[in-house]
Amino acid sequence: MTIIFLGAPGAGKGTQAERISEKLAIPTISTGAILREAIQEETSLGKLAKSYMEQGALVPDDVVIGILRDRISREDCGKGYILDGFPRTLVQARALKNMGAKIDKVVNIHVPDEKIIERMSGRRVCLECGSSYHVRYKPPRMENQCDKCGAALQIRKDDLPEVVKNRLAVYHEMTAPLEAYYAKEGLLVNVEGQEELADTTKLTQKALMIE
Ligand code: AMP
Repeated sequence: MTIIFLGAPGAGKGTQAERISEKLAIPTISTGAILREAIQEETSLGKLAKSYMEQGALVPDDVVIGILRDRISREDCGKGYILDGFPRTLVQARALKNMGAKIDKVVNIHVPDEKIIERMSGRRVCLECGSSYHVRYKPPRMENQCDKCGAALQIRKDDLPEVVKNRLAVYHEMTAPLEAYYAKEGLLVNVEGQEELADTTKLTQKALMIE
């Protein structure tokens, strides 16, 4: 099964993608996580992506399309995969189609902007292994320490309030049009993001008919 998660930054699509990925035993591909890793490793891709990401802007289409093309051609994607954070523009959506990707469903997680700003201020990430937490909604077992690898948790620079506002504006302008694009293809299912992550997971599973 191949699934795309759409939704504003901070809508919780990453967490839902991880859960569905475990349930279906298929990989989640997060272009954001791939780019953060490149920044951490100071590769040429990382150097290029850094300035865009720190401002809350999108990394150029050709760059992310190239990353995605390489990633989905790997063997572990043979039985399907989940896309978290790609596509983010119509150009990327069309490129994905041209790569021959057969998408089964597009899950659009909707959360109002005010709620997103509140959520993102509490988000913490592990830069070592990519795990993500929230001080209120998904706290780590030990304060400020990653459950999976024990590293100290950090606030992403792009989760700072002024950057979040910019990311939301970019989302509404560049990514929200994908809702209509995938609705027209008959693939879109809408899920209202709930206060409790587990409730959103139930709704997501129902929408995907994998309860
Ligand atoms: P995310 O972790 O998905 O919220 O992504 C973090 C940041 O990485 C975004 O704000 C963008 O700067 C960049 N990014 C991730 N995926 C894409 C994409 N598909 N297209 C352009 N930029 C992206």
